[in-house]
Amino acid sequence: MSITDNIIAIRREIDAALERRKEHGLEVFPVKLVAVTKNQNIASIQAAINAGIDAIGENRVQEALTKRDGIQGPVDWHLIGHLQTNKVRQAVASFDLIHSVDSERLVFALDKAAAKLNKRQAVLLQVNISGEETKFGVETDQALGLADMIMSSSNLKLSGLMTIAPHFPNPEDARPIFREMYQLFMQLRSAGGVHTTIQWLSMGMTNDYQIAIEEGSNLIRIGTAIFGPRQY
Ligand SMILES: *Cc1c(COP(=O)(O)O)cnc(C)c1O
Repeated sequence: MSITDNIIAIRREIDAALERRKEHGLEVFPVKLVAVTKNQNIASIQAAINAGIDAIGENRVQEALTKRDGIQGPVDWHLIGHLQTNKVRQAVASFDLIHSVDSERLVFALDKAAAKLNKRQAVLLQVNISGEETKFGVETDQALGLADMIMSSSNLKLSGLMTIAPHFPNPEDARPIFREMYQLFMQLRSAGGVHTTIQWLSMGMTNDYQIAIEEGSNLIRIGTAIFGPRQY
């Protein structure tokens, strides 16, 4: 299957998952598909953009910078990988949305860099809802505190939440994690009232995106299902 065919197939799956959500009487949000392009070449990325992709997710600041000059067309750049404080300035200069904010230290550094660059940087708070030790992300009980800290910065805009579920052989096992994330997302949204900037719930990858959408995700990050297995 071509990259275009893969994207068409994913869009069908998204619609089917939203339909299932609707059948359960749950609120339905339009879902944004971010193409994850780590380890992909320019030709593949361009093929995805030509097939309608308008948001690119990269894990590393440097890798994104070396690719972006070769790419044609209006796309948003999303940083989805862990961000080190020494890369913050470059990240703020280059990315429309940073998904991986997970510490006070990083919030301070981002606030400072955004002020210097005269930019209001949109960010997501990455939550480690499963409590896995190996994963990045703020612990659930600290999420609201860190969200408050981001919201009190005039240089940052809290646009939502992100999580990476553990890779379960059966993606159904990720459902409780996604459900808990959705509750946290709705709690933050309603606390913000009608003027809330919180709009994105970033969860779901190739293995588990249908379940994530059934549980309320509106931003999925897909690599393998678009481009095939990564070559390292
Ligand atoms: C690699 C990656 C993805 C995409 O993973 P696939 O399983 O290839 O769809 C999504 N999110 C993050 C944070 C990633 O690192």
